[in-house]
Amino acid sequence: METTDVVIAGSGPTGLMLASELRLAGVRVALVDGLPARTGESRAGGIHARSMEILDQRGLLDRLLPQGRRMQAGHFGGLPLDFSDFDTEHPYMLAILQSVMERELQGRATELGVDTAWNSPVTGFSQDDSGVRVELGGAHPRTVRAAYLVGCDGGRSSVRKLAGIGFPGTDATATGMLADVELADPPAAPFFGRRGAAGDYSAIQFEPGWYRLIVQRHDLVLPRGTELTFEDFRAHFTELAGTDFGMHSPRWVTHYGDSARQAERYRTGRVFLAGDAAHIHYPAGGQGQNLGIQDAVNLGWKLAAAVHGTAPESLLDTYESERHPIAARVLHNTRAQTALMRPGTHSDALRDVMSELIATDPIRHRLGLEITALDIRYDTKCEHPLAGRRVPDAILRTATGTSRVYELLRRAHPILLLLNETEAPAGPEWSARVDIVTAHTPGTPWRVPGVGPIPVPAAILIRPDGYAAWATDEPGLPGLGEALDDWSGAAA
Ligand SMILES: Cc1cc2nc3c(=O)[nH]c(=O)nc-3n(C[C@H](O)[C@H](O)[C@H](O)COP(=O)(O)OP(=O)(O)OC[C@H]3O[C@@H](n4cnc5c(N)ncnc54)[C@H](O)[C@@H]3O)c2cc1C
Repeated sequence: METTDVVIAGSGPTGLMLASELRLAGVRVALVDGLPARTGESRAGGIHARSMEILDQRGLLDRLLPQGRRMQAGHFGGLPLDFSDFDTEHPYMLAILQSVMERELQGRATELGVDTAWNSPVTGFSQDDSGVRVELGGAHPRTVRAAYLVGCDGGRSSVRKLAGIGFPGTDATATGMLADVELADPPAAPFFGRRGAAGDYSAIQFEPGWYRLIVQRHDLVLPRGTELTFEDFRAHFTELAGTDFGMHSPRWVTHYGDSARQAERYRTGRVFLAGDAAHIHYPAGGQGQNLGIQDAVNLGWKLAAAVHGTAPESLLDTYESERHPIAARVLHNTRAQTALMRPGTHSDALRDVMSELIATDPIRHRLGLEITALDIRYDTKCEHPLAGRRVPDAILRTATGTSRVYELLRRAHPILLLLNETEAPAGPEWSARVDIVTAHTPGTPWRVPGVGPIPVPAAILIRPDGYAAWATDEPGLPGLGEALDDWSGAAA
């Protein structure tokens, strides 16, 4: 029987990202997918600031930026949301197709030694105290024994169903229809959107020559599995817009609903769920792929520590306690966006009120920081304002030269960053558990999204996913030992 450390079901963005995270930590991975090959469907249209930062931490962003287009604003229920003054190196949305993301993420996984085994759907599993037996169907049915199984197998996740994990939520009330096309008679602006009597319609120029046309109908719920042909799409678009903009040469036509559901649990024993397998919602604001990538980066280092036997058991449980609330608030905000997008006098009034509010900085920041995921604060025992939050990408001067904080995270190791004359703790037990970096950085306060300016800390324990597990302003490093025990395992 084939053996490995972790079987990942599903080679979408979530599974691919998780595969690379685990390989960076030296974990053996089998990445399997039920499809015969990658479809190349364009799917998601972009990624947000926190995902860009995370991809930068792993050295992947430089490959993606030239293939995307920077958009200063995203939206909330169709109302523009300007990100340009957000405290990040990436205060914009990157318009980049999911097919490009998947190609690059697969390239990275391959470099790290993981190819996707296509035609290998997970059809069953059983688990015991020491591992999981995963049954694969398809062209070459086989069994793989692993320490863990992660279902990254999308909204209809077999792993979730086989695990008997409930997927409660709300049914669809509206239908989005989409076609990626060329236009003989395009609208004048690269972004065009209108509200009609039955719903919205829009045209967004994605790439030179290519547009994404979207129709949102609130008077219709197309059952899953209904075929939508290009001519059906043209008819719906023309009915709402009064023109088809000369659409031709469709690259992808699809429809989707606004059902919003979330797995009751993200873990049962040795089996985990991540990405769309754990949560589905309307693609309003462009958040799903971002959530999946960030689920993977949250789970990867914890699972690796469990495989290596260095993690306290409580560490694996923090995956659900940290990530479930984040997806829950995305479901909540996408439901709010759908309500805001409904046609009718009452929604028009609500939109007027919201347009006014969203033009004010506090509301724009409140919504924008949630959509970009820059405001996430995970629960840690530490009171410092940076604890549980993403660490800013400060410029550092170290013994080996100038660097950025995110460049330190390329190997996905935990880092103890000692700043501006803070001395390293004595004793070898520290360096065995964490990379210690001593650096100088300018004393200008750091600007932390959702917090504001904070003094440059004396020291930070940075988790492999770029969040501060612990921080202090005191050079005596109070609480560091306990924080390391919690996040990196007890000293050997
Ligand atoms: C129209 C549209 C626009 C969107 N726009 C955005 C956007 O702008 N920004 C954004 O962040 N998100 C967006 N999303 C959401 C985004 O596409 C999804 O959230 C993302 O694909 C989730 O990735 P995933 O890897 O979790 O799942 P998926 O991409 O669904 O991948 C799951 C994989 O699992 C495989 N699989 C299924 N069953 C099995 C099995 N039994 N065994 C093995 N493999 C299996 C599938 O073949 C598939 O390859 C959009 C979605 C839609 C539909």
